[in-house]
Amino acid sequence: MTVTVSSSWQLQGCADCGVVAPSRGRRRRVLHDVSHGEVPVRLVWRQRMWRCPEAACPRGAFVEQIPVRVAPRGSITGRAMGWAIGQLRREHATIAGLARRLDVSWWALWRAVKPELERRATDESRFAGVTSLGVDEHVWHHANPKTRGPKELTGMVDLTRDDQGRVHARLLDLVPGRSKKAYADWLTARGQEFRTGVQVAALDPFGGYKSAIVDQLEDATAVLDAFHVVKLGTQVVDEVRRRVQQDTTGHRGRKGDPLLGIQTILRAGAENLADKQQARLARAIEADERHEEVFVAWQCAQQLRAAYRQQDLTDGRHLAEKILASFRRCPIPEVARLGRTLRRWREAFLAYFATGRANNGPTEAMNGIIELHRRLARDYRNRENYRLRMLLAARGLTP
Ligand SMILES: [Zn+2]
Repeated sequence: MTVTVSSSWQLQGCADCGVVAPSRGRRRRVLHDVSHGEVPVRLVWRQRMWRCPEAACPRGAFVEQIPVRVAPRGSITGRAMGWAIGQLRREHATIAGLARRLDVSWWALWRAVKPELERRATDESRFAGVTSLGVDEHVWHHANPKTRGPKELTGMVDLTRDDQGRVHARLLDLVPGRSKKAYADWLTARGQEFRTGVQVAALDPFGGYKSAIVDQLEDATAVLDAFHVVKLGTQVVDEVRRRVQQDTTGHRGRKGDPLLGIQTILRAGAENLADKQQARLARAIEADERHEEVFVAWQCAQQLRAAYRQQDLTDGRHLAEKILASFRRCPIPEVARLGRTLRRWREAFLAYFATGRANNGPTEAMNGIIELHRRLARDYRNRENYRLRMLLAARGLTP
């Protein structure tokens, strides 16, 4: 569908000298607009042209510009850009799909969208009011680091509660590397006001981030992120299962091996298991007495989950202290190692129960969005483009 448009006539003065400029006619400029249902829409803009009649004026000829409708050299209308950004953010659309709908190339659309995302990303007001800050590693590619740069990025997450006490996690930034420096430099760049505003600093058990917090966020309480601690527990179960599998059968998991069949069951919370799954778990454990070890590791991981799930924070803390006392003495080496890790992080582990529970739901939900968009954004080779795309999807560009 082609729609021909033009602005209504008005007296036009030269932008340099103000002398009334006579018309030099019009020219056609083709713009891509939001599609009409399935039908792509072209706007043919009959753009006005003038010439400054003042001999001493350097301006010469000039053409009509309406920046709120379309950028001076753009081919996509502002309305179409707003639509595209909304689709990227809320509907998990891809640039390729949107470009098809607008009947433009991938690059034409991205070139148009990128400056707007950059403008939002550099607006420091999006960092205002952050009182609870999370930090997390983020793997953005699996290619050769020599050609693509570091595989890991450090992601900063806003975990601040709203008036109702709910957390709507936002990805605030992604910076290259996984190190103390990456996080500390970012905190420095945010300024003193931001740093003193942060009361709770959540983190995964990584020493680099911890020392950045100690240096930069003196007044904040460091808290181990519940999501990561629970994940450590799940990893332990996985490791024990693999080891026992290898010891009892002499090979890694094969179809029909009882322990391989319960792989996903072991990763779930006990409270989420259906009767059928519980029966399968029991059968797999009973198949060999050496499987008992897997069951014990699973129970340990469940205990860890249970500590975080307690209605009452005092009960949660009691359970956490029991875990600190018992895990490290566990005869299962993987569980004992987790126990030692938690003891090293004792203060930050227990701080969760004193800071009024940083719900791990939002971090998990945000990681889900990031995972989804990482798959959608497989066409991003450029780290800065990737960063902007992720920040938009994970609500970081909205104050
Ligand atoms: Zn002039």
